[in-house]
Amino acid sequence: MKILAVGRNYVDHIEELGNARPDEPVVFCKPETALLKNNAAFFYPGFSEDIHYEVEILIRVCKAGKSIGAGFAHRYYDEIGIGVDFTARDLQSKAKAKGLPWDVAKGFNGSAPVSGFLPKSRFDLCNLGFSLKKDGEEVQRGDTSLMLFGFDEIVSYMSRFFTLKKGDIIFTGTPGGVGPVHIGNRLEAFIEGVKMMDFEVR
Ligand code: MG
Repeated sequence: MKILAVGRNYVDHIEELGNARPDEPVVFCKPETALLKNNAAFFYPGFSEDIHYEVEILIRVCKAGKSIGAGFAHRYYDEIGIGVDFTARDLQSKAKAKGLPWDVAKGFNGSAPVSGFLPKSRFDLCNLGFSLKKDGEEVQRGDTSLMLFGFDEIVSYMSRFFTLKKGDIIFTGTPGGVGPVHIGNRLEAFIEGVKMMDFEVR
């Protein structure tokens, strides 16, 4: 399986990082070794001093496809979940300043904790509220109505470059409020107020 992700998909997050608003989805990948499941602890890596959380809605691909038209994209994912796109912000900023790729800042081991998945049919995908708590205090809150590119557009766009396969996971972008984590923090992620994920930083 592979993990695909969209950056800069919520205006409040674009503004907090001082980035430009994209004309097309900004896409990047994380390797399978980035996955963390079942509320496994995240181990703070030695190569960074500024790991940030980014809470994001996930969609899971249910069948293979490429060059999928936006009008058909909804047939290619049937479940949603929530995850954290951990980012080594210090490494990413250094790479961005030099115009270099930021793969290591996004794809390192354990950089993709994911929840379990639920059928998308249970939700209004266009108005889906989600949030993240750090040590019991809400630090991020988003709603999919505020995405620049919706799920169908994201799936369609990604599938022009990458053949999507069953089991692939797509991170759909983070709202504002990103910030650092530290050893000892507890992160809890919610969809529509229901806790989906709860894990520690060690
Ligand atoms: Mg992100």
